[in-house]
Order: sequence, then C-alpha cells, then structure tokens
Amino acid sequence: MSPTYLKKPAPLPTNETGHVTGQIDVKGIVSSVIDDVRKNGDEAVRRYSEKFDKWSPESFRLSKEQIEAIISKVPQQTIDDIKEVQSNVRAFAQKQKESLKDFEVEIRPGVHLGQKNVPIDAVGCYIPGGRYPLLASAHMTILTAKIAGVPNVIACTPPINGEIPNATVAAMYFAGADAIYLLGGTQAIAAMAIGTETIPKVNFICGPGNAFVATAKAMLYGEIGIDLFAGPTEVLIVADEDASPFMCAVDLLSQAEHGPDTPAVLVTNSERVGKETIEHVEKILTTTNMSTAGLASTSWKAFGEVVVTETIDEAYKVADTYASEHVQILTKSPRDALTKMSNYGALFLGAKTCVSYGDKVIGTNHVLPTKGAARYTGGLCVQKFLKTYTYQEIKTEEASGALGRLCGRAARAENFEGHARSGDLRASLFAKDQIDW
Ligand code: NAD
Repeated sequence: MSPTYLKKPAPLPTNETGHVTGQIDVKGIVSSVIDDVRKNGDEAVRRYSEKFDKWSPESFRLSKEQIEAIISKVPQQTIDDIKEVQSNVRAFAQKQKESLKDFEVEIRPGVHLGQKNVPIDAVGCYIPGGRYPLLASAHMTILTAKIAGVPNVIACTPPINGEIPNATVAAMYFAGADAIYLLGGTQAIAAMAIGTETIPKVNFICGPGNAFVATAKAMLYGEIGIDLFAGPTEVLIVADEDASPFMCAVDLLSQAEHGPDTPAVLVTNSERVGKETIEHVEKILTTTNMSTAGLASTSWKAFGEVVVTETIDEAYKVADTYASEHVQILTKSPRDALTKMSNYGALFLGAKTCVSYGDKVIGTNHVLPTKGAARYTGGLCVQKFLKTYTYQEIKTEEASGALGRLCGRAARAENFEGHARSGDLRASLFAKDQIDW
C-alpha cells in the first residue's frame, strides 16, 4: 500500500510560465557578493553589511575590551547556562576525539603503514543570527573545532536588527574563539573564504545559516573546505498509535518557528494520531500566545506534511526517503529506528527527549545536514576538523626489493614507465635484480 497524505505542502504560486513568483534569486545575489569581495575586499564587505544588515562599525572585529564590556551586560543565569551547555558539548566532542586513534600497522614483514589525524590550521565558524541569537551554534562550531585541536578559530555572527547579540558573543568567547567579528550573511562567508585586509583567510568554514549562507558555502567549496550543507532546518516525527498527538504538534512547531521555509513532517501508521496532530497544530497556532506563531504558521502551511502508512515499518521506510535533519521517534520501541533507518541528521529516541534538547542543551552537535544531505553525511563533529593523513616506511631491504618488482609490473600494466623505474631501482638496489637502464 502506498502512503496517504492527510496534509500536503501547499504548492508555491507560479506565474503564467510556470515559474515560482516572488522568489529571491539567492544564487545570483550570492555570486555577485562573492565576486565583489574578491575584487574589493573590506570595502565590498562593508558595503554589503550596510546594505543587508544596516551595520557598519569602525571595525567588524571586536576587541578584548569590547568583548568584556558586552559580556558584562549578559545576565549571570545566561552565562551559567552557556557554561553548563558547553560542558555537555565538550564531553561528547571529547569522546569523539578519543575514538579517533592514529595507528600504524605492519601489513607484511617490513612494510609499515600509518594513519594520523591532523587538525586543520585555520577555521572560520559562522554563528547565524539574522532572526534569532543562535548562541548554541557557537558551542557546536567553535568549541568542537577547539576540541579537535584547531589552533586558529575565527568566528562571525551578524547583528540582529542593528543590535549586538550579547549572549551570542559571550558564547563565542567562552567556546574559545580566537577572533570574533560582528558580520553576517554572504559577506561574512566570502570574507573568511577569500580573506580581506582585516579578516584572515581560513581553510575551512563551518556552521549553519539561511539560504544565503548555505549557498555561499556551497559556491566557495573547493577554494575552502566546508562542513556540510546545513541550511534551513527540518523536522520529521515517526509516531505510532501510542504517541501523544499534542506532543507531536508541539514538537513539529518547535522547529517550524525557525523560519518560513521549515519542513515539518509527521509520518504515522495511526490515522487518528495524524488527524488529531493537525487539529492541535491549528489550535496552538490560532488560540495560544506562542510569540513565533506567525513564522511557524507560514512554514506549516507551505511545508507541513502528515503522511499515514499501513504499518510502522512502512513509516520508517517513508521517513528514510526524506533524509530529514532531525527525526523524532514517538513509538512503543523507539530504539528500533537505529536499525530501521539509515538517512537522518540526528535521531531523538522516545518522548523523554526532543529536538529542542539537541538544538539547545543536550550535547550532541546541532549543525546537521538538510535538503537530503543526510543521504551522504552526518552532522558536524570533531572528525570534520581533522585531516586523515597516511604515511609509509619500509624497514627491510628484502621487503623493498620485493615491492619494487611488484611495482615495476603493476606500473607497466598501466603504461607508466617512470613509475616502473622507481620500482626497478629498489629491486636492483635491494633485491640485486639486473636492470637494463
Ligand atoms: P543567518 O545568520 O543565517 O542570516 C542572516 C544574514 O542573511 C544577514 O546577516 C544578511 O546579511 C543575510 N541576508 C538576509 N536577507 C538577505 C537578502 N535579501 N539578500 C542578501 N543577504 C541577505 O540568520 P537567519 O536568517 O536567522 O537564518 C538562520 C538559519 O539557520 C535558519 O534557516 C535556521 O533554520 C538555520 N539553522 C540550521 C541548522 C542546521 O544545522 N541545519 C542549525 C541552526 C540553524
């Protein structure tokens, strides 16, 4: 049986030629900002910061004195909470680091092969902030890079409506950023990737962001490394008959409030749970005082989905095809998802945890793949900041001579005469083969 839809996304309005109306040309804007920053450096960065964020301070970089003054305005409870959350993120990231062991193996007598994990030397972290002060992104990016051992971590975050996001700056500082810039959007990503007179070029950029930020990272990939495509957020819930429809509704809306472009999907084998969840969502959006109901409602109308399947196994299969960023499991045996599913950014198992814990406090990384990228990658982690290098050494003449003969034959099978001769040379030196040069 194919699944049925109790709610589908509302199709976007199109013009007479079939093109979506009112859409911003994100790729066009991003590519012209990048070109301009490449040509004009700081002058272009300042122009776009003024244009998009109405923000043009004397220096985009905050001095130590400015940072201290900003932190002094943050309530003590917020500082304590930042430190508590960072201790969770640190504990999990440290465990990831420990799991990555360098090793050396003797694969045949005398032949030693090794692997080493070396941190990237300069990383740029983007902490989004156009709409909300996403201070948790500071823990997830900067702190994880520092645990990985990255020596130079710079970080950018935009002002919010012309105001400095004090708590975000505090989180960036406590996470260990070596330099903090108040700068957002494409201009921040381009400045860190290309380098300007005042902003140093990095080798790798990480962090989530809106469509402009995600597109800029994708366009600059190759010139720099990037973590993953972590664009506008997504949530998917798998629920069975036991799930609470009210909890499904609350948890769907907890992500829908991020922006007007947040897919929020329920996949359930219970038609009753599906129908009641829709009723609860509509009730919460229209009759409660949820301050972000406007954004959540736009998102729900355009991108909300409720899918009903025959069985819970089918629900897991359907859920897997979305490869959603966050997948919440509200079923009798939530751990089944660990074997039934393979495409997701992060799993939230059972009613006692939720996506908001992952986003804000629990300690796993909240920079996660979106737009189906979970089909080929997981989220941000210590490994992403490390380069896995290999090395080799042959410790006996016998082993080198034998491999020299093998190399000569293997290279000639590919018509690589130069490679073959490097092998021949070792065969002649160490296995005393007669080579006719
Ligand atoms: P943001 O910092 O990503 O973007 C703000 C910047 O966008 C501004 O500084 C501005 O320069 C630029 N901008 C805005 N409108 C523009 C325009 N018309 N033209 C050019 N540039 C423009 O902050 P945000 O907008 O609040 O978005 C944060 C995003 O991060 C959300 O979409 C959220 O879902 C996402 N997010 C994703 C993850 C993940 O792991 N996938 C995690 C957290 C947040």
